[in-house]
Amino acid sequence: MTRYCQVVLANATRHFDREWTYRVPESLIASIDVGSAVYVPFGTRKTSSRGFVTQLFDTLPEQYDERKIREVDSLFSERPVVTEEQVRLAFEMKRRYYCTVGDALNTMVPPTVLAVGDRRVKAARLIDTEEAMELLDSGDLRSMKQVRVIELLLEHEEASCVEIRQATDVSQGVLNTLAKKGVIEFFQRTVSRDLPEELEEVEPAEAFEATEDQSRAIEEIDSAALTTAPGTLREFMLHGVTGSGKTEVYLQVADRVLSRGQQVLILVPEIALTPQMTRRLIARFGERVAILHSRLTPAGRYETWQRILAQEIPIVVGARSAVFAPLKNLGLIVVDEEQESSYKAEMKPRYYAVDVARMRAIMNGAVLVLGSATPQISSYWRAHQGLSTLLRLPERISDVGMADVEVVDMRAEYARGNLSIFSERLMRELSYTIDRGEQAMILLNRRGFSRTVVCRSCGWQMRCPFCDIALTSHRNPYGGQTGLPSRMVCHLCERLARVPKQCPECGSEEIMALGAGTQQVEEEIRKQLPHARILRMDLDTTRGRFSHKEILDAFERREADVLVGTQMIAKGHDFHNVTLSAILSADQLLGTGEFRASEQAFQLMTQVAGRAGRGLKKGRVIIQAVQPDHFVVRAAAQQDYEAFYREEIVFRKRMEYLPFGHIGMAQLKGFDLYETEDTAREFYREVSALIGQYGGTFSRTVLSEASPAPIERIRSRYRYRVMVRDESAENLTRLLFMAADRLKRPKGVSLVIDIDPWTTF
Ligand code: ADP
Ligand code: ZN
Ligand code: ZN
Repeated sequence: MTRYCQVVLANATRHFDREWTYRVPESLIASIDVGSAVYVPFGTRKTSSRGFVTQLFDTLPEQYDERKIREVDSLFSERPVVTEEQVRLAFEMKRRYYCTVGDALNTMVPPTVLAVGDRRVKAARLIDTEEAMELLDSGDLRSMKQVRVIELLLEHEEASCVEIRQATDVSQGVLNTLAKKGVIEFFQRTVSRDLPEELEEVEPAEAFEATEDQSRAIEEIDSAALTTAPGTLREFMLHGVTGSGKTEVYLQVADRVLSRGQQVLILVPEIALTPQMTRRLIARFGERVAILHSRLTPAGRYETWQRILAQEIPIVVGARSAVFAPLKNLGLIVVDEEQESSYKAEMKPRYYAVDVARMRAIMNGAVLVLGSATPQISSYWRAHQGLSTLLRLPERISDVGMADVEVVDMRAEYARGNLSIFSERLMRELSYTIDRGEQAMILLNRRGFSRTVVCRSCGWQMRCPFCDIALTSHRNPYGGQTGLPSRMVCHLCERLARVPKQCPECGSEEIMALGAGTQQVEEEIRKQLPHARILRMDLDTTRGRFSHKEILDAFERREADVLVGTQMIAKGHDFHNVTLSAILSADQLLGTGEFRASEQAFQLMTQVAGRAGRGLKKGRVIIQAVQPDHFVVRAAAQQDYEAFYREEIVFRKRMEYLPFGHIGMAQLKGFDLYETEDTAREFYREVSALIGQYGGTFSRTVLSEASPAPIERIRSRYRYRVMVRDESAENLTRLLFMAADRLKRPKGVSLVIDIDPWTTF
């Protein structure tokens, strides 16, 4: 009979993050279980602390002293809030992401589940987003906590107080202060349990008869699902262009797995942008599907979670955090569009959902299927190494013609004296398109401020001789960025380089910086085509009340002729009236300064090429570049993934980038320049000392000096970082986190550690 239990605290510092032993009082013996949330006395704390039960014992293990054991105060709810597997997963996450077990468990459970079963939730929102942004930029806010809250609300518009407190690690007092200052207001979030409206009327649908390629994939995955046992990994890479029938494969395998009484988890990059997937799941499986939608009300989320936990719903679909759905008998995990960066969490703990999916697949003996038209190099490499099985769907189901891709050589434009960001060709096509009443999309790199230096007569691009990635300009926090920058920096080794007067390749003096932002593009179109109706989608336009979806919907309703934006616009919707898509500068995509630049450029170009002309009219894609012969541009124009992979993997291997090596980034942020810089230096010294101390282990580790980040200051906070590279991700994790433990960090400086970051700005 259960008499004792181990408990981890929900909110502990790393120092106290271990299992503590408690006695279970008679009254709780029947209901307590692994995964129960409990209140326990702890140390000298006056009130009970919340914790999670991780183990149960009948008798006290020998090493403990009965007299020192305290008793569990109470249970948070009748039933456990997490599963046994989730508890194990939390320990695994601690090892990998260096969070506390409590951090991991708190991340897995929606805050509302932990916020007592109250259906009416107190929530907060900004009173005026414009004012809030100004307040952030003014530098008048000296409290990091207040900044975090405002940033969160800018991103999510509104959130329950519990969610805010948990996500930003602040007390209610901070929220109250902000309310008193007139920055935020409280309100009761309305509670509704309705399905999101777009899903209300979905007609049931039968499965298609699978094509030969689909059948082969279905059989292979399904027979693996039948035989895989916990402790082993069976992973598949389903590679096929958009429209090749991947989703149908997921659905048919899911059907078989379900019929054997097992469960299915499907991850998508973002629910709001993938209405097709949810619609089809519901058409096929009806009430058996739960959608973990980010727009679910707290009550809706609570209900859904409870039903999943009670094992009443066998299929769960959702974005990143759905990877934690408490299903106990998983047979299949699907990660659709596995190349998307949204699977990487940018808040603590910075987990990567694809890794977590892999851990869960192993724990459950479930098969893992990664699907993509343009897989990450490292995922495709896994297949080549035999770590996963490659399945191909080489053809589109219906023969919608691929769009014609045309590469415009910008060197010729410049030679003719056209120095604008638009080639004459593109401007003319744009004008025709609008005249015909059709629509156009213009894409540019997500970071309008990252600038790359190229030679406009030969196409040479300024790169780091050591890291072989493009150099970018440091953004001057105090001024604009016109003209040629004088110095450029490497994101990885932090070396600075002078911009040469002459091109080292061809000797020309036509060196220029590329880096138009969405706003500049909009202005240029207005100038040349004053009658064009333009919609712009970027961080500035989406962070207020106007969400991505609203902008995309407006464009779909043809309220504008041209949509200018970052890669967000290439996703989701099929715009049937779009007949022209353009990538303004392939060089800019290739010059982001990330080692993933080629991969991301290829993905975006292919996506755009695949998207144009989905309707009845034939589409056209224009890619502008001063490097029209770059292998990425050529492979993308041909939509030839294999050709791209063959070249890129050689580069990765030569430079020891993912999957052959790893990068760790420690980022220090603070309001005070000197304090931040000093702390970064101190951190560098700690890392350096550890490398010396553990000699052999870190003999191949490469450490770069503490330096300002490429964007030195955001919202009046200075940003410094220390970059480390190593063959082994585990090595990096240990090294950086040991250094973090040793670092004496002032209160005003925050530290974030990211292994294999997706962005190094
Ligand atoms: P992907 O997920 O690769 O984009 P989908 O599974 O969505 O591909 O398939 C593309 C289109 O073809 C969808 O409209 C789908 O309904 C249809 N489709 C898929 N498989 C079949 C099939 N075997 N027979 C007929 N139509 C199919
Ligand atoms: Zn040149
Ligand atoms: Zn470098």
